[in-house]
Amino acid sequence: MGLACALEEARRGARVGVFDPAATQAQASHAAAGILVTRDAHVFSSPFREFYVRSIRQYPEWLAALTASAGREVPLHKGGDYLIFDLDDPAARDRLEAKSRQLDRERSLAFTVTDTLPKHLQAHSPLAKVRVFHFPEEAYVQNRELLAALRLACEKAGVVFRIGNPARAWEYAEGTTRLTFSEDRWEARRVLLAAGAWSFQALEHLGITAPMVPVKGQMIRIRNFHGLESMIHFNDNLYLVPRGDSLVVGATTEPGNWSEGFDGVGEAYVETHLRRFLPEVSREPLETWSGLRPRTRDRLPWMGWLDQERGWAICTGHYKCGISMAPLAAQCLSKLLHGEKAPFDLSPFNPWRKQGLGKVRV
Ligand SMILES: Cc1cc2nc3c(=O)[nH]c(=O)nc-3n(C[C@H](O)[C@H](O)[C@H](O)COP(=O)(O)OP(=O)(O)OC[C@H]3O[C@@H](n4cnc5c(N)ncnc54)[C@H](O)[C@@H]3O)c2cc1C
Repeated sequence: MGLACALEEARRGARVGVFDPAATQAQASHAAAGILVTRDAHVFSSPFREFYVRSIRQYPEWLAALTASAGREVPLHKGGDYLIFDLDDPAARDRLEAKSRQLDRERSLAFTVTDTLPKHLQAHSPLAKVRVFHFPEEAYVQNRELLAALRLACEKAGVVFRIGNPARAWEYAEGTTRLTFSEDRWEARRVLLAAGAWSFQALEHLGITAPMVPVKGQMIRIRNFHGLESMIHFNDNLYLVPRGDSLVVGATTEPGNWSEGFDGVGEAYVETHLRRFLPEVSREPLETWSGLRPRTRDRLPWMGWLDQERGWAICTGHYKCGISMAPLAAQCLSKLLHGEKAPFDLSPFNPWRKQGLGKVRV
């Protein structure tokens, strides 16, 4: 979120500095799977859903502009997605019903439904009774390539990077915020907080309480046994996303867990699900990792002013959807910072809504 917003600002000609203590190996954007699935939605039951789908639809254009700015290609992989429900599992049947209702409600058209496993899984999966949805237009992005390109594009656009935190609380006077680092001091007319699951720490220094929990996600990468570009979701709770000749497999959902790194919980999760759905496939990990998703109390992001008078804004809390929501979020925040009308009404994501931020009582 921070890099996407910084690039948008730099493109408008603003002088931009990004600071990050970089004290974590659990940055969500690095850990993510990069899944961008709209389920071909045309009718939206909430502003969140509409924001999410509209943002994903901007991806082709956004990546093309990013590729041009960074001088490095970030492909959008339109390999499609197979969503497979095991009809012998009552919980999966409930999920299937909920998914069918959603597709109906959202007037989705770009998918097919069958009762047989896709060919490339037949030799690998023992599931006997299945319902399979195939969405041929779904896409994913390699989020680590995306991050690298955003960083490069920012640098080319003149964005300055600093590892570390200001040594003192943000100081505001007469339209300017002073951020004092050990080496020097930055002065800014606008400050955007986009520190993911760690945002509450920065807010604490500003006297603001933030009801936010980290939700740990653990993943592994295994060899790509089918060799195709398509994603696979089993029962909506295990996914496999191609990374060239390997597959990202995940992910756990562990609220309130600040621990970093891959552990026994992640191992058991992946082992149990892979053994059930794809027992013949090698579970030997090529890589393991974890990340902390930023989740707010009502699961809606915080995108808006922290303090409009001082020029302080926030963009965080995108939970499981931050890679998908980055293009539109960056556009909206940039418009907000410049006092212009955002391309999406941000009022549902006002950080000061009832379930949102609070002031520390003194
Ligand atoms: C396992 C997993 C799978 C996921 N899969 C998907 C997916 O398929 N599709 C999707 O759309 N989303 C996915 N997500 C969600 C997505 O990754 C997040 O919503 C998104 O990355 C959040 O971005 P962010 O910039 O807010 O936070 P982060 O990427 O966590 O970045 C926060 C940054 O803030 C820095 N920071 C910490 N403290 C401070 C401070 N005091 N001041 C300044 N900076 C600070 C951190 O070092 C870090 O660099 C997934 C997440 C996980 C963990």
